[in-house]
Amino acid sequence: MDKILEVSDLHVTFSTYGGAVKAVRGVSFDLHKGETLAIVGESGCGKSVTSNAIMQLIPDPPGKITNGTITFKGKTLTHVSEKDMRSIRGVDISMIFQDPMTALNPTLTIGTQLTEGMMEHNHTSSADAKAKALEMMHLVGIPNPDERFKQYPHQFSGGMRQRIVIAIALICEPELLIADEPTTALDVTIQAQILELFERIQQQTGVSIILITHDLGVVAKIADRIVVMYAGKIIEEGTRKEIFYEPQHPYTKGLLKSVPRLDIKGEKLIPIDGTPPDLFSPPQGCPFTARCPMAMEVCDKVYPFPSERSDTHKVDCWLQDERAKQLLAHAADKS
Ligand code: SF4
Ligand code: MG
Repeated sequence: MDKILEVSDLHVTFSTYGGAVKAVRGVSFDLHKGETLAIVGESGCGKSVTSNAIMQLIPDPPGKITNGTITFKGKTLTHVSEKDMRSIRGVDISMIFQDPMTALNPTLTIGTQLTEGMMEHNHTSSADAKAKALEMMHLVGIPNPDERFKQYPHQFSGGMRQRIVIAIALICEPELLIADEPTTALDVTIQAQILELFERIQQQTGVSIILITHDLGVVAKIADRIVVMYAGKIIEEGTRKEIFYEPQHPYTKGLLKSVPRLDIKGEKLIPIDGTPPDLFSPPQGCPFTARCPMAMEVCDKVYPFPSERSDTHKVDCWLQDERAKQLLAHAADKS
């Protein structure tokens, strides 16, 4: 499969009165054409910052990409001017956010909001733009598109508004769609419908999708691969099957235990105790040490070497590493 996006050793820092917050600390991953990659983790783990960095939407100041490259279809976005980036956003790469209400302008009709980007970026005539808008409304499952075209956001339900937002994101036929918590504000039934919609759209358009969520349950059906982030780092990544059936990192295992599963009735959900470390001065060792039931002596001293369990499955945890035992033995010898 062709690589469409390559993120390599990304570091993002925010300056605050309290000091520099190292929000993303050396994140690398690839995305292939037509693939759905999920980035999963608790709030503050750096997943949204990573996606904003791809869009070059880190507010500078206070934020800054301090290291790393982001390459989209051979173009290094970290070197692209803001003017060029403006012609990439919404056209080649689109983004949708959690709250469909704030994404839409309450004073403009749905039709205007659907067509304006196309008319501006692609110089499409208004008749052609309208035809394309109606086609997109149909694609995302809005009934009576002709009538709905003239209506305002408040005349739509939350789920329908999120469908409109998705239609707007897709109307210029982007190759990459980034969805940041796209179903969090919706109730469970609507959530499932929106996720099905993503799947269908991908089959029909071949768009690559990055889905950002705190909820592993959301990605269980639609992600091809999953990246798990913790304290600004990717601590495990693998195919959906590897993450759901052979999770290795204690944090990934904890996340899985805290997700309700439809296939197990009356199952007990176990939240992960404790909180992530503060990213003003991230620990030099494994950032999960303080919460990890398996933590060893080496864990808070040295960051684990990444272990590859397969071509697709990588994990940063000392439990996976023979060298941890050697380090422990070495420490024991010295004491
Ligand atoms: Fe737990 Fe140590 Fe693995 Fe970190 S490296 S997840 S503390 S066992
Ligand atoms: Mg977020």
